[in-house]
Amino acid sequence: MDLITKLAITGFILLSTGAFANPVVIKAKEIIDPSLGKLTASRMLIQDGKIKALGKFKIPKNAVIYDYSDSILTVGLGDAHTHLCTSFDPNKYVDLTDQKNRQRVGSRVIDCIVNAKSMLKSGFTMVRDLGNSGDYLDVDLANAARERKVPVPDFFYSGKIISPYGGQSIMQPSTERLHSGEYIFADTKDELLKAVRQNLFYGSHVIKLASDTHSYRYSEDDIRFVAKIAHDAKKTLAVHAWTADAVYDAVKGGADSIEHGALSSDRELILMAKKGTYFSHASTTIEHASAIFNLPENSQIITNIYKDNLALLKNIKKHKVALVFATDTISSYKGKGRGVMAIDHIDSYVEAGFTDEEIFSIMTIDVAKLLGDISLAQIKVGHRANLIITPQNPQENIQTLKQVQHVFLNGTKVF
Ligand SMILES: [Zn+2]
Repeated sequence: MDLITKLAITGFILLSTGAFANPVVIKAKEIIDPSLGKLTASRMLIQDGKIKALGKFKIPKNAVIYDYSDSILTVGLGDAHTHLCTSFDPNKYVDLTDQKNRQRVGSRVIDCIVNAKSMLKSGFTMVRDLGNSGDYLDVDLANAARERKVPVPDFFYSGKIISPYGGQSIMQPSTERLHSGEYIFADTKDELLKAVRQNLFYGSHVIKLASDTHSYRYSEDDIRFVAKIAHDAKKTLAVHAWTADAVYDAVKGGADSIEHGALSSDRELILMAKKGTYFSHASTTIEHASAIFNLPENSQIITNIYKDNLALLKNIKKHKVALVFATDTISSYKGKGRGVMAIDHIDSYVEAGFTDEEIFSIMTIDVAKLLGDISLAQIKVGHRANLIITPQNPQENIQTLKQVQHVFLNGTKVF
Protein backbone atom coordinates (compact mmCIF):
# COMPACT_ATOMS: atom_id res chain seq x y z
CA MET A 1 0.00 0.00 0.00
CA ASP A 2 1.46 3.41 -0.92
CA LEU A 3 1.74 6.24 1.57
CA ILE A 4 -1.09 8.31 0.09
CA THR A 5 -3.50 5.38 0.36
CA LYS A 6 -2.39 4.74 3.94
CA LEU A 7 -2.92 8.38 4.90
CA ALA A 8 -6.32 8.45 3.19
CA ILE A 9 -7.49 5.35 5.06
CA THR A 10 -6.15 6.61 8.40
CA GLY A 11 -7.84 9.96 7.82
CA PHE A 12 -11.14 8.26 7.05
CA ILE A 13 -11.00 6.14 10.21
CA LEU A 14 -10.14 9.15 12.37
CA LEU A 15 -12.91 11.20 10.77
CA SER A 16 -15.50 8.47 11.16
CA THR A 17 -14.78 8.05 14.87
CA GLY A 18 -14.87 11.77 15.59
CA ALA A 19 -11.16 11.69 16.50
CA PHE A 20 -10.52 15.28 15.43
CA ALA A 21 -13.36 16.64 17.54
CA ASN A 22 -12.78 18.35 20.88
CA PRO A 23 -13.49 16.31 24.01
CA VAL A 24 -17.10 16.65 25.18
CA VAL A 25 -18.33 16.92 28.76
CA ILE A 26 -22.00 16.34 29.55
CA LYS A 27 -23.39 17.29 32.95
CA ALA A 28 -26.78 15.78 33.77
CA LYS A 29 -29.15 15.55 36.71
CA GLU A 30 -28.90 11.74 36.47
CA ILE A 31 -27.33 9.19 34.18
CA ILE A 32 -29.50 6.12 33.52
CA ASP A 33 -28.17 2.80 32.24
CA PRO A 34 -31.04 0.56 31.04
CA SER A 35 -29.63 -2.51 32.87
CA LEU A 36 -28.19 -0.87 36.00
CA GLY A 37 -30.66 1.98 36.51
CA LYS A 38 -29.45 5.21 38.08
CA LEU A 39 -25.64 5.54 38.10
CA THR A 40 -23.84 7.36 40.91
CA ALA A 41 -22.06 9.51 38.32
CA SER A 42 -23.72 12.59 36.85
CA ARG A 43 -20.91 13.76 34.56
CA MET A 44 -19.52 12.13 31.42
CA LEU A 45 -16.35 12.78 29.43
CA ILE A 46 -16.38 11.79 25.75
CA GLN A 47 -13.30 11.59 23.59
CA ASP A 48 -12.88 10.26 20.05
CA GLY A 49 -16.57 9.38 19.96
CA LYS A 50 -16.37 7.13 23.02
CA ILE A 51 -17.13 7.43 26.72
CA LYS A 52 -13.77 8.16 28.34
CA ALA A 53 -14.73 8.77 31.97
CA LEU A 54 -17.75 8.93 34.30
CA GLY A 55 -18.13 10.84 37.57
CA LYS A 56 -14.96 12.53 38.75
CA PHE A 57 -12.43 13.57 36.10
CA LYS A 58 -10.37 16.58 35.14
CA ILE A 59 -12.14 18.60 32.47
CA PRO A 60 -9.79 19.03 29.49
CA LYS A 61 -9.08 22.69 28.63
CA ASN A 62 -10.40 22.33 25.08
CA ALA A 63 -13.56 20.45 26.10
CA VAL A 64 -16.98 21.45 24.83
CA ILE A 65 -19.27 21.47 27.87
CA TYR A 66 -23.01 20.75 27.71
CA ASP A 67 -24.80 21.53 30.95
CA TYR A 68 -28.05 19.55 31.15
CA SER A 69 -28.23 19.59 34.93
CA ASP A 70 -32.04 19.60 34.85
CA SER A 71 -32.28 16.58 32.55
CA ILE A 72 -31.50 12.87 32.23
CA LEU A 73 -28.66 11.38 30.17
CA THR A 74 -29.17 7.86 28.85
CA VAL A 75 -28.49 5.60 25.85
CA GLY A 76 -30.09 6.11 22.45
CA LEU A 77 -33.15 4.10 21.41
CA GLY A 78 -33.57 1.29 18.90
CA ASP A 79 -36.18 0.32 16.32
CA ALA A 80 -35.68 -3.25 15.11
CA HIS A 81 -37.95 -3.07 12.06
CA THR A 82 -37.67 0.00 9.86
CA HIS A 83 -37.88 0.79 6.16
CA LEU A 84 -36.15 4.16 5.99
CA CYS A 85 -36.04 4.11 2.20
CA THR A 86 -39.80 3.72 1.86
CA SER A 87 -42.23 6.54 2.55
CA PHE A 88 -45.66 5.40 1.50
CA ASP A 89 -48.04 8.18 0.56
CA PRO A 90 -51.59 6.84 0.05
CA ASN A 91 -52.68 10.19 -1.36
CA LYS A 92 -50.21 9.92 -4.24
CA TYR A 93 -50.06 6.17 -4.88
CA VAL A 94 -52.66 3.39 -5.01
CA ASP A 95 -50.49 1.01 -2.97
CA LEU A 96 -46.85 0.22 -2.21
CA THR A 97 -46.41 -1.64 -5.50
CA ASP A 98 -47.68 1.36 -7.41
CA GLN A 99 -45.31 3.64 -5.49
CA LYS A 100 -42.29 1.40 -6.07
CA ASN A 101 -43.03 1.36 -9.79
CA ARG A 102 -43.56 5.10 -10.17
CA GLN A 103 -41.40 6.91 -7.63
CA ARG A 104 -38.16 8.28 -9.08
CA VAL A 105 -34.94 7.03 -7.47
CA GLY A 106 -33.81 10.56 -6.59
CA SER A 107 -37.02 11.21 -4.69
CA ARG A 108 -36.60 7.93 -2.83
CA VAL A 109 -33.02 8.76 -1.83
CA ILE A 110 -34.29 12.02 -0.35
CA ASP A 111 -36.88 10.01 1.61
CA CYS A 112 -34.08 7.78 3.01
CA ILE A 113 -32.19 10.79 4.34
CA VAL A 114 -35.23 12.64 5.66
CA ASN A 115 -36.44 9.52 7.51
CA ALA A 116 -32.99 8.80 8.96
CA LYS A 117 -32.73 12.34 10.33
CA SER A 118 -36.27 12.21 11.68
CA MET A 119 -35.54 8.95 13.55
CA LEU A 120 -32.39 10.44 15.06
CA LYS A 121 -34.24 13.56 16.15
CA SER A 122 -36.69 11.37 18.09
CA GLY A 123 -33.80 9.64 19.88
CA PHE A 124 -33.33 6.51 17.76
CA THR A 125 -29.59 5.89 17.42
CA MET A 126 -29.84 2.29 16.17
CA VAL A 127 -32.15 0.81 13.57
CA ARG A 128 -32.47 -2.55 11.86
CA ASP A 129 -33.66 -1.76 8.35
CA LEU A 130 -35.47 -4.66 6.70
CA GLY A 131 -35.60 -4.02 2.98
CA ASN A 132 -37.96 -2.22 0.63
CA SER A 133 -34.92 -0.17 -0.30
CA GLY A 134 -34.99 -0.54 -4.08
CA ASP A 135 -31.67 -1.23 -5.69
CA TYR A 136 -29.62 -1.39 -2.45
CA LEU A 137 -30.29 2.22 -1.45
CA ASP A 138 -29.79 0.92 2.11
CA VAL A 139 -26.14 0.27 1.23
CA ASP A 140 -25.79 3.83 -0.07
CA LEU A 141 -27.36 5.19 3.13
CA ALA A 142 -25.01 3.10 5.28
CA ASN A 143 -22.01 4.36 3.31
CA ALA A 144 -23.16 7.98 3.59
CA ALA A 145 -23.51 7.49 7.35
CA ARG A 146 -20.04 5.98 7.69
CA GLU A 147 -18.52 8.81 5.71
CA ARG A 148 -20.41 11.35 7.88
CA LYS A 149 -22.12 12.92 4.89
CA VAL A 150 -25.50 12.77 6.61
CA PRO A 151 -26.48 11.94 10.20
CA VAL A 152 -27.98 8.44 10.30
CA PRO A 153 -28.67 6.15 13.27
CA ASP A 154 -26.39 3.08 13.50
CA PHE A 155 -27.74 1.35 10.45
CA PHE A 156 -28.04 -2.45 10.30
CA TYR A 157 -29.57 -3.35 6.94
CA SER A 158 -30.87 -6.44 5.17
CA GLY A 159 -30.37 -5.55 1.53
CA LYS A 160 -33.05 -6.96 -0.74
CA ILE A 161 -35.87 -9.02 0.71
CA ILE A 162 -35.62 -12.65 -0.37
CA SER A 163 -38.97 -14.30 -1.05
CA PRO A 164 -40.68 -17.04 -3.02
CA TYR A 165 -41.77 -16.00 -6.52
CA GLY A 166 -43.75 -12.78 -6.54
CA GLY A 167 -42.41 -11.13 -3.41
CA GLN A 168 -45.01 -9.09 -1.55
CA SER A 169 -46.26 -7.55 -4.75
CA ILE A 170 -49.37 -7.49 -6.82
CA MET A 171 -47.72 -8.39 -10.08
CA GLN A 172 -48.40 -9.15 -13.73
CA PRO A 173 -45.92 -11.29 -15.69
CA SER A 174 -45.09 -8.26 -17.84
CA THR A 175 -44.07 -6.22 -14.77
CA GLU A 176 -41.97 -8.95 -13.12
CA ARG A 177 -38.73 -7.12 -13.85
CA LEU A 178 -39.87 -4.11 -11.78
CA HIS A 179 -40.58 -6.25 -8.72
CA SER A 180 -37.43 -8.32 -8.98
CA GLY A 181 -35.64 -4.97 -8.61
CA GLU A 182 -37.10 -4.69 -5.12
CA TYR A 183 -36.97 -8.40 -4.15
CA ILE A 184 -34.88 -11.43 -4.95
CA PHE A 185 -37.21 -14.25 -5.92
CA ALA A 186 -35.73 -17.53 -4.66
CA ASP A 187 -37.66 -20.80 -4.65
CA THR A 188 -35.05 -23.56 -4.89
CA LYS A 189 -32.07 -24.18 -2.60
CA ASP A 190 -29.67 -23.02 -5.33
CA GLU A 191 -31.64 -19.80 -5.74
CA LEU A 192 -31.70 -19.25 -1.98
CA LEU A 193 -27.94 -19.76 -1.72
CA LYS A 194 -27.31 -17.32 -4.54
CA ALA A 195 -29.74 -14.75 -3.13
CA VAL A 196 -28.19 -14.82 0.35
CA ARG A 197 -24.70 -14.55 -1.13
CA GLN A 198 -25.79 -11.56 -3.22
CA ASN A 199 -26.94 -9.75 -0.07
CA LEU A 200 -23.82 -10.77 1.85
CA PHE A 201 -21.76 -9.36 -1.02
CA TYR A 202 -23.49 -6.02 -0.47
CA GLY A 203 -22.68 -6.11 3.22
CA SER A 204 -26.06 -7.04 4.70
CA HIS A 205 -26.05 -7.39 8.49
CA VAL A 206 -29.21 -9.45 8.54
CA ILE A 207 -30.83 -11.73 5.96
CA LYS A 208 -34.55 -11.18 5.57
CA LEU A 209 -36.94 -13.75 4.14
CA ALA A 210 -40.57 -12.85 3.40
CA SER A 211 -42.07 -16.30 3.78
CA ASP A 212 -45.82 -16.43 3.47
CA THR A 213 -47.29 -13.67 1.32
CA HIS A 214 -48.91 -16.11 -1.12
CA SER A 215 -50.46 -19.58 -0.97
CA TYR A 216 -46.95 -21.09 -0.94
CA ARG A 217 -44.22 -20.41 1.63
CA TYR A 218 -40.80 -21.41 2.86
CA SER A 219 -40.64 -24.76 4.67
CA GLU A 220 -38.83 -25.46 7.93
CA ASP A 221 -36.10 -27.06 5.82
CA ASP A 222 -35.76 -23.93 3.62
CA ILE A 223 -35.46 -21.75 6.73
CA ARG A 224 -32.84 -24.08 8.25
CA PHE A 225 -30.87 -23.97 4.99
CA VAL A 226 -30.78 -20.15 4.96
CA ALA A 227 -30.18 -19.87 8.71
CA LYS A 228 -27.02 -21.95 8.37
CA ILE A 229 -25.65 -19.78 5.56
CA ALA A 230 -26.47 -16.60 7.50
CA HIS A 231 -25.06 -17.88 10.79
CA ASP A 232 -21.89 -19.20 9.13
CA ALA A 233 -21.37 -15.65 7.86
CA LYS A 234 -22.00 -14.32 11.42
CA LYS A 235 -25.28 -12.69 10.36
CA THR A 236 -28.78 -13.09 11.70
CA LEU A 237 -31.94 -14.30 10.00
CA ALA A 238 -35.20 -12.34 10.14
CA VAL A 239 -38.30 -14.06 8.79
CA HIS A 240 -41.45 -12.20 7.83
CA ALA A 241 -44.17 -14.69 8.68
CA TRP A 242 -47.81 -13.86 9.16
CA THR A 243 -49.63 -17.17 9.66
CA ALA A 244 -49.19 -19.49 12.65
CA ASP A 245 -47.75 -22.38 10.61
CA ALA A 246 -45.24 -20.13 8.83
CA VAL A 247 -44.13 -18.70 12.19
CA TYR A 248 -43.82 -22.19 13.68
CA ASP A 249 -41.68 -23.46 10.80
CA ALA A 250 -39.49 -20.34 10.84
CA VAL A 251 -38.82 -20.69 14.57
CA LYS A 252 -38.12 -24.42 14.27
CA GLY A 253 -35.83 -23.75 11.30
CA GLY A 254 -33.67 -21.37 13.34
CA ALA A 255 -34.82 -17.82 12.56
CA ASP A 256 -33.40 -15.25 14.98
CA SER A 257 -36.45 -13.02 14.76
CA ILE A 258 -40.01 -13.27 13.56
CA GLU A 259 -41.31 -10.17 11.81
CA HIS A 260 -45.05 -9.49 12.27
CA GLY A 261 -46.19 -12.96 13.38
CA ALA A 262 -49.68 -11.50 13.58
CA LEU A 263 -51.54 -14.81 13.73
CA SER A 264 -49.21 -16.50 16.21
CA SER A 265 -50.98 -18.74 18.69
CA ASP A 266 -49.86 -20.10 22.06
CA ARG A 267 -48.02 -22.96 20.27
CA GLU A 268 -45.68 -20.54 18.43
CA LEU A 269 -45.15 -18.26 21.42
CA ILE A 270 -44.27 -21.17 23.71
CA LEU A 271 -41.72 -22.40 21.14
CA MET A 272 -40.26 -18.89 20.71
CA ALA A 273 -39.86 -18.46 24.46
CA LYS A 274 -38.14 -21.85 24.67
CA LYS A 275 -35.75 -21.12 21.79
CA GLY A 276 -35.12 -17.45 22.64
CA THR A 277 -36.40 -16.27 19.24
CA TYR A 278 -37.12 -12.56 19.13
CA PHE A 279 -40.58 -11.24 18.33
CA SER A 280 -40.18 -8.17 16.14
CA HIS A 281 -42.96 -5.84 15.05
CA ALA A 282 -45.90 -6.59 17.25
CA SER A 283 -46.96 -3.01 17.84
CA THR A 284 -49.02 -0.52 15.94
CA THR A 285 -50.92 2.64 16.72
CA ILE A 286 -54.33 3.79 15.55
CA GLU A 287 -52.64 6.57 13.56
CA HIS A 288 -50.08 4.20 12.06
CA ALA A 289 -52.75 1.77 10.87
CA SER A 290 -54.95 4.58 9.66
CA ALA A 291 -52.07 6.05 7.63
CA ILE A 292 -51.14 2.77 5.94
CA PHE A 293 -54.67 1.70 5.09
CA ASN A 294 -55.88 5.23 4.37
CA LEU A 295 -58.98 4.67 6.48
CA PRO A 296 -60.59 6.80 9.21
CA GLU A 297 -59.21 6.21 12.73
CA ASN A 298 -62.66 5.17 14.00
CA SER A 299 -63.39 2.71 11.18
CA GLN A 300 -64.10 -0.88 12.14
CA ILE A 301 -61.05 -2.23 10.27
CA ILE A 302 -58.62 0.07 12.10
CA THR A 303 -60.31 -0.62 15.46
CA ASN A 304 -59.94 -4.37 14.88
CA ILE A 305 -56.29 -4.12 13.79
CA TYR A 306 -55.42 -2.21 16.96
CA LYS A 307 -57.41 -4.60 19.16
CA ASP A 308 -55.73 -7.68 17.62
CA ASN A 309 -52.33 -6.04 18.04
CA LEU A 310 -52.96 -5.43 21.74
CA ALA A 311 -54.13 -9.00 22.26
CA LEU A 312 -50.95 -10.31 20.61
CA LEU A 313 -48.71 -8.06 22.72
CA LYS A 314 -50.46 -9.26 25.88
CA ASN A 315 -49.97 -12.88 24.83
CA ILE A 316 -46.27 -12.26 24.06
CA LYS A 317 -45.87 -10.80 27.56
CA LYS A 318 -47.77 -13.70 29.12
CA HIS A 319 -45.49 -16.26 27.46
CA LYS A 320 -42.31 -14.24 28.26
CA VAL A 321 -41.19 -14.17 24.62
CA ALA A 322 -38.12 -12.01 23.92
CA LEU A 323 -39.47 -8.82 22.40
CA VAL A 324 -37.90 -5.90 20.56
CA PHE A 325 -39.35 -2.46 19.88
CA ALA A 326 -40.09 -2.67 16.18
CA THR A 327 -42.47 -0.33 14.45
CA ASP A 328 -42.51 -1.10 10.70
CA THR A 329 -43.51 2.53 10.19
CA ILE A 330 -43.65 3.54 6.53
CA SER A 331 -45.97 6.54 6.48
CA SER A 332 -46.46 10.04 7.75
CA TYR A 333 -49.72 11.16 9.27
CA LYS A 334 -51.06 14.58 10.19
CA GLY A 335 -47.65 16.07 9.43
CA LYS A 336 -45.78 13.77 11.82
CA GLY A 337 -42.35 12.65 10.67
CA ARG A 338 -40.97 9.11 10.78
CA GLY A 339 -39.40 9.48 14.23
CA VAL A 340 -42.55 10.76 15.91
CA MET A 341 -44.66 8.09 14.20
CA ALA A 342 -42.25 5.46 15.54
CA ILE A 343 -41.96 6.73 19.11
CA ASP A 344 -45.77 6.87 19.41
CA HIS A 345 -45.75 3.04 19.36
CA ILE A 346 -44.85 3.26 23.06
CA ASP A 347 -48.56 3.68 23.75
CA SER A 348 -49.50 0.20 22.54
CA TYR A 349 -46.95 -1.39 24.93
CA VAL A 350 -48.34 0.73 27.78
CA GLU A 351 -51.89 -0.31 26.94
CA ALA A 352 -50.83 -3.97 26.72
CA GLY A 353 -49.62 -3.77 30.34
CA PHE A 354 -45.83 -3.50 30.03
CA THR A 355 -44.15 -1.43 32.76
CA ASP A 356 -42.11 1.67 31.92
CA GLU A 357 -38.92 -0.18 32.83
CA GLU A 358 -39.84 -3.12 30.59
CA ILE A 359 -40.64 -0.85 27.64
CA PHE A 360 -37.35 1.02 28.03
CA SER A 361 -35.53 -2.31 28.04
CA ILE A 362 -37.40 -3.48 24.91
CA MET A 363 -36.34 -0.22 23.21
CA THR A 364 -32.68 -0.45 24.20
CA ILE A 365 -31.18 -3.66 25.64
CA ASP A 366 -33.26 -6.07 23.57
CA VAL A 367 -32.68 -4.26 20.28
CA ALA A 368 -28.94 -4.10 21.00
CA LYS A 369 -28.89 -7.83 21.81
CA LEU A 370 -30.66 -8.69 18.57
CA LEU A 371 -28.17 -6.50 16.70
CA GLY A 372 -25.39 -8.51 18.35
CA ASP A 373 -23.83 -5.56 20.21
CA ILE A 374 -25.07 -5.09 23.77
CA SER A 375 -22.61 -2.20 24.22
CA LEU A 376 -25.07 -0.08 22.19
CA ALA A 377 -27.35 -0.11 25.23
CA GLN A 378 -24.80 0.27 28.03
CA ILE A 379 -23.20 3.32 29.59
CA LYS A 380 -19.64 2.21 30.20
CA VAL A 381 -16.17 3.64 29.72
CA GLY A 382 -14.90 2.62 26.28
CA HIS A 383 -18.34 2.32 24.70
CA ARG A 384 -19.47 4.51 21.83
CA ALA A 385 -21.30 7.64 22.92
CA ASN A 386 -24.73 7.27 21.31
CA LEU A 387 -26.83 9.11 23.84
CA ILE A 388 -30.01 11.05 24.42
CA ILE A 389 -31.13 13.73 26.86
CA THR A 390 -34.68 13.51 28.22
CA PRO A 391 -36.67 15.62 30.71
CA GLN A 392 -37.32 12.65 33.05
CA ASN A 393 -36.08 9.14 33.81
CA PRO A 394 -37.66 6.85 31.15
CA GLN A 395 -37.63 3.92 33.57
CA GLU A 396 -40.06 5.90 35.74
CA ASN A 397 -41.97 7.73 32.99
CA ILE A 398 -41.70 6.16 29.54
CA GLN A 399 -43.70 9.03 27.99
CA THR A 400 -40.67 11.27 28.49
CA LEU A 401 -39.18 9.58 25.41
CA LYS A 402 -41.67 11.54 23.33
CA GLN A 403 -39.78 14.67 24.38
CA VAL A 404 -36.16 13.82 23.62
CA GLN A 405 -34.28 17.11 23.99
CA HIS A 406 -30.87 16.35 22.48
CA VAL A 407 -29.16 13.47 20.66
CA PHE A 408 -25.47 12.55 20.50
CA LEU A 409 -24.11 10.19 17.85
CA ASN A 410 -20.52 9.00 18.37
CA GLY A 411 -20.13 11.82 20.88
CA THR A 412 -21.22 14.52 18.44
CA LYS A 413 -24.35 16.49 19.18
CA VAL A 414 -26.63 16.00 16.16
CA PHE A 415 -29.81 17.48 17.65
ZN1 LIG B 1 -41.73 -4.30 7.33
